[in-house]
This record gives sequence, C-alpha cells and structure tokens, in this order.
Amino acid sequence: MNIDDLLTPLGLDARNQQAGTLAVCSPIDGAEIARVPECTTQDAHLAIDAAQEAFMAWRTVPAPRRGELVRLLGDELRANKQALGRLVSMEAGKILAEGTGEVQEMIDICDFAVGLSRQLYGLTIASERPGHRMMETWHPLGVVGVISAFNFPVAVWSWNTALAIVCGDAVVWKPSEKTPLTALACQALFDRAAAKFGNAPAKLSQVLIGGREIGQALAAHHRVALVSATGSTRMGRELSPIVAARFGRCLLELGGNNAIIVGPTADLDMALRGILFGAVGTAGQRCTSTRRLIVHESVADELVARLKQAYDSARIGSPLEPDTLVGPLIDRAAYDGMQRALESARRQGGKATGGERRLADEYPQAWYVEPALVEMPAQTEVVLQETFAPILYVMRYKTFDEAVDMQNGVPQGLSSAIFTNDLREAEQFMSVTGSDCGIANVNIGTSGAEIGGAFGGEKETGGGRESGSDAWKAYMRRATNTINYSRELPLAQGITFGSDT
Ligand code: NAD
Repeated sequence: MNIDDLLTPLGLDARNQQAGTLAVCSPIDGAEIARVPECTTQDAHLAIDAAQEAFMAWRTVPAPRRGELVRLLGDELRANKQALGRLVSMEAGKILAEGTGEVQEMIDICDFAVGLSRQLYGLTIASERPGHRMMETWHPLGVVGVISAFNFPVAVWSWNTALAIVCGDAVVWKPSEKTPLTALACQALFDRAAAKFGNAPAKLSQVLIGGREIGQALAAHHRVALVSATGSTRMGRELSPIVAARFGRCLLELGGNNAIIVGPTADLDMALRGILFGAVGTAGQRCTSTRRLIVHESVADELVARLKQAYDSARIGSPLEPDTLVGPLIDRAAYDGMQRALESARRQGGKATGGERRLADEYPQAWYVEPALVEMPAQTEVVLQETFAPILYVMRYKTFDEAVDMQNGVPQGLSSAIFTNDLREAEQFMSVTGSDCGIANVNIGTSGAEIGGAFGGEKETGGGRESGSDAWKAYMRRATNTINYSRELPLAQGITFGSDT
C-alpha cells in the first residue's frame, strides 16, 4: 500500500506529509505512513481570528449562493470517493465498503445542504396586537469549531461543515490526532471547491492538526460561537464546562451504549443480520455499535446459537481485502481496554466466547481481535460502560417492561432498536414510555443512520443533534422580529403605561 499514490490525487503534497512531528500509523499493520506537522495553540488563535474575518464576509453572501460552494464540494467528493474511502480504510482501519460508505455519507449531506440553502425558513407568528406582524429570522452564527473522533474521520466534519457553510458560518476543524491525513485530504478537496467557486473568503474552512490542547483552545476562545464536539463522554465532560464558562454554544455527540431488544415474535433471520452488522461492523468502533442484546427468553437459546455461528464465519483481516468483515482495532490501548472489560465481565458472572487477539504473527504491530459475545446473568456494572471494541453483552428478559427498563438503564442514550412483529411492542418502544434514546428503530439495527434524520442522543451522549431534519438551527442564530405598521403603540399583555393611564 503506497500512501503517496493516494495523497497526490487528493491534492496533498506527499513530501509535506513526511516532514512533521505527529506520526500517523495505519491500524492495518501498525506501520508509520506519515509524519504530519502539528499546530500550536498560538496557531489555533490565529486560525480563529482569520475564520472570524472570513465569517464577516461570508455571512453577507446569499444562502443559495453559499449552497453553490457546497455543491462544488460534493462534486469533489464524488470524483474522489474511491481514493478518500481507501485513505479512511488505511488510517482508521475500516473495511473498504465502510470507508467508501463514509464518503457517500459526505456526498449525501452536501446534497442535503444544497437543498437546505434555499430552505432556511423562519416562521410568521400571529401577533396579539392590532396592526402588528411577528416573524422569526435566522442569521449566520459565527465561527464553528469542530472537534471529531477517529472512528468517523471524515463524515463528522462534512455533517458540520456542509450545514455551517450554507448557514453562513466559517469552520475551524480539529480532527482526531489518530486520523490527520484524511482531515488534510478533506481540506484539500474543500480548497479545490473554493477555488472553483471563485470568490469565497480565504480561511472559510481550516484544519488544525494537534491534540486535545487544540480542542481546548477552540473551546475557550470567545470568537468560537459554536463548538461541535464528537468523541467520548470523558471528552465532553472536560470540554463543555470550558464552553459554558463563556456562555458559548456546545453541540455534543458523545459515547453510546446501544441495545437491541429481540421480542418473542421477531423475525430472527433479520434480527441476526442487524445484530451482526451492529456488533462486529467497524470492529465495534461506531458510536452506534450494538453493545447490548436484550433477548426474550423464549428465543434466546436459538438466537445465541445462531449468533455464535455467524461470529465464527465473520472473516477477520486486512480491511483492504474485499471479503473481510472485521478489520483491526485502532490501537493497542483499544485492545487493552477490551481485555480489561472482558475480565470484569467474567468476574461479574459473564460467560464469554471470543475476544482473543488474532493475526498477531502476520501483523505483530496491529490489533486484530475476534469479536466477543458475553452472556451476562444481569446488566452488571461493566455493561453500563461503553467499551469501544466488539463486545456484545447478552441479557435475557421475561416481560416487555423489563426489557425497556434494561434498555434505558444505562447512562448513555444514543441509539436503540427492537426486532418485533408485535405492533403494540413496536409502538410502545417508540412512545414516551419506551426507549429514552435519540434514535429508536424498529426492525433495523442500531447503527447505520441516514443523513436525513437528526442524529444524536440523550443523557451522557450529550443531547446534541447533527445532520438532517432541523439540525441546521444549531448553526444559526434566531431573531424574533415584531413590526408595528399601525399608528398606535399598544403594549403586549394589554399593559397601559404613562399617558394611556
Ligand atoms: P476521544 O474523546 O478520545 O477524542 C475525540 C476528539 O476529542 C479528538 O479530536 C481528541 O483530540 C479530542 N479531545 C479529547 N479530549 C479532549 C479535551 N479534554 N478537550 C478537547 N478536546 C479533546 O474519542 P475517540 O477515541 O477519538 O472516539 C471514540 C469515542 O467517540 C467513543 O466514545 C464514541 O462513542 C464517540 N463518538 C460519538 C459519536 C456520536 O455521534 N455520538 C460519533 C463518533 C464517535
């Protein structure tokens, strides 16, 4: 795998990507593939100042014209889908189908945002006063700071950037320090789109390579109107008080601990496929990965037996090989975390199948694992935590209420699903007394959301919403306008004041 052959068509000078201090290692074989330059906190401050200047110009460009820039970005992504998808696989370790799938998601959000650029609608509101009109207007917000995680190294940027750009904002992005190359490639594609656009302000979109101190610089800077941060709950807990202390706006997309309930009437063939993709896809390293299976006692034996068979046949190997289903973990720390969780699970009464290291002879510097299935006697302490690895805890239930209590009984609230053919169960699961998550699916697994819906979750997942629906509102500021076209000055609530009394 020659990295230069990928970087050059994506618009990156391969030599620059070998001259820095941050080593980039591919999780496929642990080999160093690049050494990229890192930014300082001072660089971050300069970037934010430049972004503010870009914002002041960009906010006055009509929104449909701003959409044209995002359309051009979508064109660049279409033209470079295979190359960028492959780079995602090399840097994040996803199988190729998922790497290119991630780029398709970027294309989809660009299309969505182009349409949105003509639909940034406000309301008109009935005024209680005669001769008055009320309305809402939506204005560009300012500089948007984006902090992203390693596991969606490009899609998360595009969810934020496509919307922010049509909303009239400027973007400063701090990607994960584990995936800087894909970030630099995205920036190069944006720069190409901006050059074709012609008169976009300089520094409308920028990338800052570095560690958490760069993220904290974005969080602390008063010019960053919105900090959109994706990552662990630990990160959100450290970051959000910094933003809150200056009354900035935070959009948090944090950890998940997602469950699938399988009811007594479920189509087990469908459930099996949904569970398998959710639990072992991306080697369990999606925020929406299925981590808990809550299965009715009447179907548990059959489902677990079939799952074990399916786990046995899931091919583990290099994500660049076409028949691989399970690629590597991102690094050794992820492997150690998985082993620690499995030990705890065993101590708490769990019976684990799988979980061992694989392909160590072939790839001594990489961390391939057999996905683990752990039958638990109850939803114990370890099950309440998000371990970012392919571990599926299986719990059995007797009554539907018990299943919903278990599903909701964790600190996180991102994605959830039920497999059932019972209409009452399905509706209850989606109702106010059902799942407490931001995503609640019926007869589909927990992972693989479409961009058209708002994406995000409750509780320790952080409460943010990104991507489709009306998530754009987080990237704009709302003004309520009241216009008096009468010759009187009546006060609201019928209040009389001064000469009227
Ligand atoms: P991480 O929290 O270690 O890092 C995420 C990003 O935050 C990185 O860019 C990192 O440099 C930065 N960061 C870390 N600590 C920081 C701090 N104190 N201040 C400022 N910035 C800081 O997460 P990760 O290991 O890259 O990704 C995995 C985690 O991300 C999982 O918990 C997963 O569930 C979560 N995730 C959530 C979503 C979602 O949409 N809810 C999507 C993807 C990943």
